[in-house]
Order: sequence, then structure tokens, then C-alpha cells
Amino acid sequence: MTTPARNRTEPDARVPDSASEQDLRELFGQSTAVFVSLAGPQHLVDTANPAFFAAIGKDPAHTGIPLAELVPELIEHGVLAVLDQVYRTGEPHTSHAVPVLLGARAHKVRSSFDFSYEPLRDDEGSVIGIRLIGVETTQLEHAHRLMAEQRALVEQIARQAPLAEVLDGMARAIEDLAPEQVLVSVLLADPDGRHLRHGAAPSLPDFYNEAIDGIATGEGVGSCGTAAHRREPVIVTDIGTDPFWDDFRALAGRAQLAACWSTPILARDSTLLGTFAMYHRSPRSPQDSDLALARVFADTAGLAIERHHIEQAKAAAEAQAEAAREELATALRTEHQLRTEAEQRAEAAAELSARMHSAAASLAAVPRPEHCELGGSAGCSEPAEIKVADSWGDAAWGCPDHVEHALLNVSSVFIANEDLGGLAAYRNR
Ligand SMILES: [Zn+2]
Repeated sequence: MTTPARNRTEPDARVPDSASEQDLRELFGQSTAVFVSLAGPQHLVDTANPAFFAAIGKDPAHTGIPLAELVPELIEHGVLAVLDQVYRTGEPHTSHAVPVLLGARAHKVRSSFDFSYEPLRDDEGSVIGIRLIGVETTQLEHAHRLMAEQRALVEQIARQAPLAEVLDGMARAIEDLAPEQVLVSVLLADPDGRHLRHGAAPSLPDFYNEAIDGIATGEGVGSCGTAAHRREPVIVTDIGTDPFWDDFRALAGRAQLAACWSTPILARDSTLLGTFAMYHRSPRSPQDSDLALARVFADTAGLAIERHHIEQAKAAAEAQAEAAREELATALRTEHQLRTEAEQRAEAAAELSARMHSAAASLAAVPRPEHCELGGSAGCSEPAEIKVADSWGDAAWGCPDHVEHALLNVSSVFIANEDLGGLAAYRNR
């Protein structure tokens, strides 16, 4: 069944507030010290605190037994050799970040301990035993590495690395560093917040990513669709039985996914940016530190996605400005062209007018009909001033208006200026 995880009411989770401080505290965990007094050269377990028995997964009744017999794993981790040395020399010893595999065969957990060994002496000063104190640093180390990873990601975001690169790097970092096997998926919300697109999921199979790409957000649409719809984390501890996964159970089965915890990624103004999901190969419930990790990285992903949106908007605005610049340039070019053409036409008209004036002047003495002959069937009552001809040998006298009209509209028409002499001048040369 789903456990509705704590509802985040803070609108801006990225502002350092008490909630995110709490997240970091949970991420860094509470270290538990184990403590055991060992007696004699055999290192017989004398007294020990409950945390010791909890760590080795044994009943607190186990006293008077050699430590190596009670926890044989410690031999291969070198703890026994150090115990022998401390017992022999009487010198205290400290070792940091000792990797230890503890627990029953099927449930072995890799842990990390800082150990301190102190010799216990009798009244005469002879060593009679050793007090062994171990502080588990596993969670602390993971948290430190995760925080270093997170810092690197934020730096990458600040450097404006491509979004896919940042999200992919984030997913891989969490997968590498998480204490248990986890598969990370980031889905990106469409601008309308109604669908989720593939963002990053380097360890999920392609067929799974392709099937999930474009799913709708909504109640009961897997962990991510529901988390996006509710705007709050959705923890599905067992995909095999959870009704939210009815439509995707077979798909998840093919991808060997058994649990999915999804956290919505929200912008500073609370709009949906996507989802951050952690998948597991077997049914699992999250610890507080898991939820804290999800929140910290969902916020980091939010930062990356928001930055990406800002970059996209900037690029779109630049493209728009460029298009406007081009449009303006075209308009200016066209205007210039039209003005040039108008100027050329005006020049041509002025030139024509001048030519007609000079033709009229030079023809002043030439006999002519009384009226313009170019008025067509309607006739023209204006006095004939200029003689025109065409290349077919026709000639006529017209008024300036009709002559100009004929010159402009009939390409073979020209002013019949007898001073020029025509072809005859060439024949008689
Ligand atoms: Zn006329």
C-alpha cells in the first residue's frame, strides 16, 4: 500500500529553512556507538551495549564467548589481529573507516566503522582485556559523498551545462553512492503540467523509458504520474500489489522493478517541473534519510530544470529579436527599392517631357494638321505640337498628353525629329 509521505507546505523548499536543515540532519544520520569489553587473550565478550548486539544481529545473552567465534566476520576485517596486538603491547589503537560486512548471509550489510581499542589493566598494570568502541560512520560517509556530489551538480548548473548532462550525472551519482541498489529516474513536465517526458534514467531499460515517456499526470498513474498530480511524494513500497500500478505492473515486471518512490520537482513558484523517482529491485519502504535524499536531489533537479527553462526563454527571445531585425531589414530594402524605382520613373518622365519640349520647339516651323491626331475615335481638340512615328512607318501629330501616352505605352513609337535624319543619313554617307 502507499504511505502518503509528509506533505511539504513550504512553497520554496530551496531557501535554507528549518525543513531543509532537518533534511540534511536526516541525510547525515545519527551515529550509534557500539561498545564491548573483552576479557583475556581469547577476547571473551564480557559486557556490551545493546547497539553492539543489534549490529551483529545476535541475542544479548551471548557473553563469555570469544569475539571471533561470536562475529567470525571480524577476523577477515583485521579486527582480531589488532585486538591481539593491543593485548600483547598494551598500546591503545585507533582505526578509521573500517569496512565491515555484518549480518546473516542473505542480509549482509556493508557498513563502515571507526574503531578505538583501549587496553584494560589489573591493579598491577598487566593487560587483562580490551575495551572496543566502534562508531558507525557508514551513513555519514555516504552523506558526505552525496553532498559533495550535490555541490558538484550545483556548480555544473551554474556553469550552464546542458540539462540532460546534469540530470544524467545526478542519476548516476545517486545510483553509485546510495547504500542500497537504487535506479534513478527524472521525468520532465510539459509546460501545461499534464504529461511527463523522459528526462534521465541511465539504468532503466530503453523499452521502459520509451513506454513511460509522455504519460499523463493523474491520480493512480503509477508513482510519478500521481506524485506530479498531487504535488507531494508518493511512496509505492510494492509495485506488485499497489493499485496505482495496475496499468504499468506488467511493464515494471519486465524491467524487474519492485518499488518506486517518487517526489515531485517543483519550481520556486510551485509550478510542476517534473518528478524524481527512486526504483528498487525488491519491495522496500524508505527511511527518513531516503526521503531526505529524495527531497535534496529533487530540489537540485528543480534548480537545473528552472535554469534550463530560463536559457530556453532567452534563446527564444533572441531568435524573435533576430527575426524582427531581419523583417525590418527586408522592409527597408523594399522601401529603398520602391523609392529608387519612383525616382527613376520621375527622372524618365522629366527626361521625356524635356525631349517633347525640345521636339515641339524644333518642329515649330514644320507644317502640321490643326488638331491632335492621337485622340482615337473620340478625337482630340488640342493643337498638334509633336510628330511621332513608329518603326512600321506610320507617323502622326499629337498634343503633348497623347504623345506622352503613346511614347510610354507603345514600345515602337518615337519622336519623329527630322533633324536627326534617320537611316537616310547612313545611306547617304
Ligand atoms: Zn491630343
